[in-house]
Amino acid sequence: MALLLPLHAFANVQVQGVRTWLAPDNTRLVFDLSGPIQHKLFALDNPDRIVLDIENASLQASLSELVSDKSPVERIRHSQSGSTLRIVLDIREQVRPKSFELRPNDQYGHRLVVDLEPIAKSQASARAAPIPAPSVPTAASSGLRDIVIAIDPGHGGEDPGAIGPNRTREKDIVLSIGRELKKLIDAEPGYRAVMIRDGDYFVSLRDRTIRARRANADLFVSIHADGWHSPTARGASVWVLSERGASSEMGRWLASRENSSDLIGGVGSVSLDDKDDVLASVLLDMSMTASRTGSRDVASIIHRNMANFARMHKPNVEMAAFAVLRSPDIPSILIETGFITNPQEEAQLKTPAYQQRMAKAIFDGISDYFWQRPPDMTLIASRKNQGGAMVAGQNRTHRVQPGDTLSVIAVRNGVSVAALREANQIRGDQIRVGQVLRIPAS
Ligand SMILES: [Zn+2]
Repeated sequence: MALLLPLHAFANVQVQGVRTWLAPDNTRLVFDLSGPIQHKLFALDNPDRIVLDIENASLQASLSELVSDKSPVERIRHSQSGSTLRIVLDIREQVRPKSFELRPNDQYGHRLVVDLEPIAKSQASARAAPIPAPSVPTAASSGLRDIVIAIDPGHGGEDPGAIGPNRTREKDIVLSIGRELKKLIDAEPGYRAVMIRDGDYFVSLRDRTIRARRANADLFVSIHADGWHSPTARGASVWVLSERGASSEMGRWLASRENSSDLIGGVGSVSLDDKDDVLASVLLDMSMTASRTGSRDVASIIHRNMANFARMHKPNVEMAAFAVLRSPDIPSILIETGFITNPQEEAQLKTPAYQQRMAKAIFDGISDYFWQRPPDMTLIASRKNQGGAMVAGQNRTHRVQPGDTLSVIAVRNGVSVAALREANQIRGDQIRVGQVLRIPAS
């Protein structure tokens, strides 16, 4: 007697919730499902709309959340035709729709994802990503460029990363730490930070390295917080690419170089596509070796800085084949800021003070490293060449040495601490090894 049953009785999967993630270059709609489904997605024009048909499903959620000023979705409606749930998105601009299902994770159950990528933007992004902006030297007046640091907060959007016993999500913590790090970097003359993810949305691992390359990054810093099924696991760690990860990535670059116009930046921005096999592999090997050496050096300074206040998981920098560390031409490191699944570390990671401390340790490591090895034609390289030496007149500078304090520097140069602070816009007494201080006229 099926005909007498209400229609929704045929539906054995419920759409229980919906949400939207707005990224700078795409919009992701997510449907929470009570189980796996079969679906169809297609576009219709005049007017532009996207149609989603889900078999044996019924709607138990409000769709209004999917519409916002910033999203390409102007209006959304649904209808039930027998056991098929049809959802129609009226869209403001032409988009390329894609859909796929996601299996349950720590935070969500079965999901259907619909990605809408504006067509105009996706064509443009073939050569230049909408974000981050290509590197524009802010030190342009001197003809010297800034050192560019790509900050990559892990996870985002549907992917919460690890989740703590108090529901703290890795994706939120690492974004906060990343933003603190950006503040410190941007405040330092000669440096500029680019956020690889700057909101709650998903960026694929491959896209993360592509964005860093487009921003002409000198260093890639991925920020994470660990998770483990046992709450006793604890400690922060710093990671670089393993030998195995490096050689498999070299193979990939060599295999794909004919259809790729990507440059490798490490050896004077050369293109590999016009080189024979031997030359291409030599160039790539040189570049990868230089990047890996740089990665290890900066990683060990940061590891040491973090060990000053944080419990470390291992006494040394660790190695793995993480996908985001595989750029052959950009030194790349990954920092696990602690175990979010450890109640004590979760509590620490949540506090702004600890996040700032973590960011400061990373920043100090970065600036120490680049002081030792500044890239050519950067403001930092030019300052280093001046050697922190005293130059007559107003251009006197001092490069902070280990053991220096503000008052020692002041006495040696015959100026007051207050004048030194003012000339360098320092509030407290904190100075860093490698920092170049302007010495005011006495
Ligand atoms: Zn992570």
